[in-house]
Amino acid sequence: TDRLISAELSDEDNIDNPLRPRTLNEYIGQEKAKENLEVFIQAALNRSEALDHVLFYGPPGLGKTTLANIIASEMGVSIKSTSGPVIEKAGDLAAILTNLEEGDVLFIDEIHRLSPVVEEILYPAMEDYQIDIMIGQGPSARTIKLDIPRFTLVGATTRAGLLSSPLRDRFGVICRLQFYTHAQLAVIVKRSASILGVPIDEKGALEIARRSRGTPRIANRLLRRVRDFAQVQNDGSINCDIADTALTRLEVDKIGFDHMDCLMLQTIMDKFSGGPVGLDTLAAAIGEEKDTIEEVIEPFLLQQGYINRTPRGRMVTELAYRHFHRRPQGKQAD
Ligand code: ADP
Repeated sequence: TDRLISAELSDEDNIDNPLRPRTLNEYIGQEKAKENLEVFIQAALNRSEALDHVLFYGPPGLGKTTLANIIASEMGVSIKSTSGPVIEKAGDLAAILTNLEEGDVLFIDEIHRLSPVVEEILYPAMEDYQIDIMIGQGPSARTIKLDIPRFTLVGATTRAGLLSSPLRDRFGVICRLQFYTHAQLAVIVKRSASILGVPIDEKGALEIARRSRGTPRIANRLLRRVRDFAQVQNDGSINCDIADTALTRLEVDKIGFDHMDCLMLQTIMDKFSGGPVGLDTLAAAIGEEKDTIEEVIEPFLLQQGYINRTPRGRMVTELAYRHFHRRPQGKQAD
């Protein structure tokens, strides 16, 4: 999607992004995940072993890739990054695994999209640091076991539920990332602003934080856009007014909803009497992919209490009606 508040990757936030924290100390929020990782990393370093395999899950833009990179740098090893859909054949993964150095981190983004044959290679690799390779064809074909270096697999997924259980069971550490609070996002915005060399005051940072859907990637993206407005319409510095003007112009509302969020909520209210409405029907009604609704749009709306998921489908809540200054059907307006 080309949503401004989309949490999906754009060129602006690739791996070399200067805004990406490099150490656990620079990484803001996710205290529980951070504390645990700190212990596991320290223990592995003390034993001079590779860190156990780690799975991060949660909505896009919350810092999964960032943590994978931090793990590698804290362990003092290199990281090889790939993603589920990119590894097409078993041989592709075998090649990656045999090229790792002792202790390396292998990061697989969208790990729920690995094909079953590729996954098969991963099981013995994760468990015994071995892969089974097929040699020859027909009656003379046989498999040989090949040792590979001890490595740490770091997997990331937006959909832990789509991971097969044999794969999930092979991760020693499973870590769910949470949406960030406004206060945490404000700290991230100020940190990013100082890296970009943009003066920003407390209220300006909070205004951007409030409109970032709990997501650092969105906070950084909004900051860059607000910076443009600040340069053209102000002296280059960001305050609450400039942030508000810019974000209103960009059609990001007071709580970070953009047209897709509004369209989804309003469609459920208008066309489906508030719900429940099934995912397929809803996707067709708003012209959006089911996956995008489930992975990108819906998690924040659910977490904030604007929709509920019931066995019969999605329903909007009282909070959603109030946000649009409406009344649920059947209730009289004042
Ligand atoms: P994911 O892999 O979960 O989609 P990323 O790790 O790519 O998300 O994070 C997106 C961007 O958000 C990063 O480039 C980084 O600049 C910023 N970011 C993420 N988490 C944090 C954090 N805890 N503190 C500061 N910045 C963060």
